[in-house]
Amino acid sequence: MTRYLAEWVLPMTGPPIRRGQIDVAGGRVVSVGPATTRGAIGPVVDLGATAVLPALVNAHTHLELSGLRGEVAPAESMPAWVDRLLARRGASGGPDPAAMRSAIAESRASGTGLVGDISNTLASVPVLEVADVSARVFREVLAFPDEGAAAVVGAALEELTACGGLTTVRLGLAAHAPYSVGPAVFAALDRAIRDRPRAPRSVHLAESPEEIEFLRAGVGPWRTLLERIGRWNPDWTPPGCGPVEYLDRMGWLGPDVVAVHGVQLTDTELACLAARGVTLVTCPRSNRWTGVGDPPIDRFIKAGVRLAVGTDSLASAPDLNLFAELASMRRCAPSVPARRLLDCATSAGADALGFGDAFGRIAPGRRAALISVQLPPGVGDVEEYLVNGITADQVCWLEEPDDRTLGDGGQPPDHRS
Ligand SMILES: [Zn+2]
Repeated sequence: MTRYLAEWVLPMTGPPIRRGQIDVAGGRVVSVGPATTRGAIGPVVDLGATAVLPALVNAHTHLELSGLRGEVAPAESMPAWVDRLLARRGASGGPDPAAMRSAIAESRASGTGLVGDISNTLASVPVLEVADVSARVFREVLAFPDEGAAAVVGAALEELTACGGLTTVRLGLAAHAPYSVGPAVFAALDRAIRDRPRAPRSVHLAESPEEIEFLRAGVGPWRTLLERIGRWNPDWTPPGCGPVEYLDRMGWLGPDVVAVHGVQLTDTELACLAARGVTLVTCPRSNRWTGVGDPPIDRFIKAGVRLAVGTDSLASAPDLNLFAELASMRRCAPSVPARRLLDCATSAGADALGFGDAFGRIAPGRRAALISVQLPPGVGDVEEYLVNGITADQVCWLEEPDDRTLGDGGQPPDHRS
């Protein structure tokens, strides 16, 4: 058993513990609490002026877009940004495994241990497995016409079935968004998901003002885009309501739903998400990049919605450092308690992705996926410090020494995921 001592331990099950300790054995947490001299059996590692916390959870990204880093400039509106993305993506020739590998390495180096990844190709699955990084990969369906809905969803299911023998990755299904997925496709996805209990589902929700316009009146830039790419359905009738009511009518709101963005949501819609137990994932840097505005994080929290955080892809964010995303949340919501923001990046994300029994909290029996953050002298409020921008060079992973190798001077193995 290894005992870690640190200036601060943040178990995320209660307040931070000053001068705390964590006992770890076999890659699992044995105990956590205030530092004591009792009961140490094995190496004691004093981490000094650091804060130890559970590995962070990036609840929304698109690793397969990693090759587009810096290639799609910020825009004044989301339709303008999507035009740029589609033009660039068409020319890029598909997901780039090397770019995905380096994105995953960068994300890990800045303290992320669990990822919620949206994929149209499942190309990220083998890359995550080889990198030994835990993830929920959602196979996303993007199809508006009703015709062929069952076949589109059936093909996605076959791809999931073909991914056998996974160790770190768990799979799920996603609908892209209410303005890009038709009602028959939502219904077919819902049936398929109900046959796969325990796996969460995901959907982009209320991201742009144009989405609201499209659902209320069936007009605007999203309709123009569907017509231009030959995916418009002339028989479709706009639901005449907002996106939350629309999804609720289709049975698409429940505790298994990971809804992403929510920038345009009203208080009534937020109350509905809270009542249904939906987790909302906020991606504030991406929202600014794609021109949809800042997310109303204080209203999300006041409404009692479960809230997690993600970086979104490298096509609309400068990096995959979740600490930088937390700092952006802090700028959007200066009065929200720092611990509430840290919950978003740990326990809430882990629960939403279906990994709450292993990730997101430091507690006996949970996986010892732990990071330490170097603290400068004089940090009084460690939680506030952690939500104001941490760089990768401050972050270390706690690597449990192995009794078998310590004796011969070997390198301790890395129990990182
Ligand atoms: Zn997204």
